[in-house]
Amino acid sequence: LAPPLFADVAGDIEVSFEFFPPKTEKMEETLWESIQTLAPFAPRFVSVTYGAGGSTRERTHNTVARIAGETSLAAAAHLTCVEATREEIDQVAEAYWDAGVRHIVALRGDPPRAGEKYSTHPGGYENAAALVEGLRRLHPFEISVAAYPECHPDSPHAAADLDNLKRKIDAGATRAITQFFFEPETFFRFRDDAAAAGITAEIVPGIMPVMNYASVVRMSAMCGTDVPAWMARLFEGLDDHPAARQLVAATLTAELCRKLYAGGVRQFHFYTLNRAELSYAICHLLGVRPGASAAI
Ligand code: FAD
Repeated sequence: LAPPLFADVAGDIEVSFEFFPPKTEKMEETLWESIQTLAPFAPRFVSVTYGAGGSTRERTHNTVARIAGETSLAAAAHLTCVEATREEIDQVAEAYWDAGVRHIVALRGDPPRAGEKYSTHPGGYENAAALVEGLRRLHPFEISVAAYPECHPDSPHAAADLDNLKRKIDAGATRAITQFFFEPETFFRFRDDAAAAGITAEIVPGIMPVMNYASVVRMSAMCGTDVPAWMARLFEGLDDHPAARQLVAATLTAELCRKLYAGGVRQFHFYTLNRAELSYAICHLLGVRPGASAAI
């Protein structure tokens, strides 16, 4: 069943990369180097996250605007409903449109204080579906939304979560990008369930290269992602061996991508955490090669 090591022999794989807005000049440099390193893969888009509670509103905007202004990459801005009125969010979206940004990743976001129940800001968008509707009213943005192969923690059950995803697509989103996961079957099951629920929009797997096992375990606990027992064994004893850890992470993630490819997946979205090396290596192992026209 497994395809050859270089899966992309047909040149039919498309990738996208996610970054977060930098806090310091040093981080800005690292981010920019990473964007330049990954740009030759001609990603469909590169996206920039929006900090919890809108805390990075300026920095997200500046990063996305810089990508849109200084490169030929298609920049996508993440936007959440947290702690803001509809008018405030609409203003942020208008500023993106004015800066030439045509793609928004529309999200509800998490409660500003971890552990609290989510509540809609007075005068704010209730959830991601409402935000998608609002954005659609403003401009013909391309809109991506989040999907959860292992069910969002706020959802009573998987069927309700799929209903919610369908509402977001029906409201005008063009694509769903998934939360990260570690077993290909998790994605295939979700893809089948989504199709059975009448969701026809593309569902792109979100790929998290494991750079730091402990922090992946922490993040997974927060977002309800299962970390298979075999992963603990795989990263055991590597804390003081960063180079070996990277090689293991690249092998593991490339294997996940290859299995996804064998199951028909052709689009991959990488959570780069602003580091290019692992995503670069995994794309390379998949057979993706720099395009003829470097995008930067
Ligand atoms: P929604 O789709 O609105 O829903 C979240 C949950 O609530 C769903 O389970 C849904 O079933 C339930 N729900 C919503 N509305 C209703 C309703 N009316 N009745 C009943 N149930 C309802 N967070 C950030 O802060 N910044 C980012 O940049 C960011 N980027 C992300 C990118 C991706 C690809 C992914 C997968 C997640 C990202 N997140 C980000 C995390 C996201 O904000 C959280 O997972 C958040 O808790 C849910 O956002 P959502 O857009 O999925 O919400």
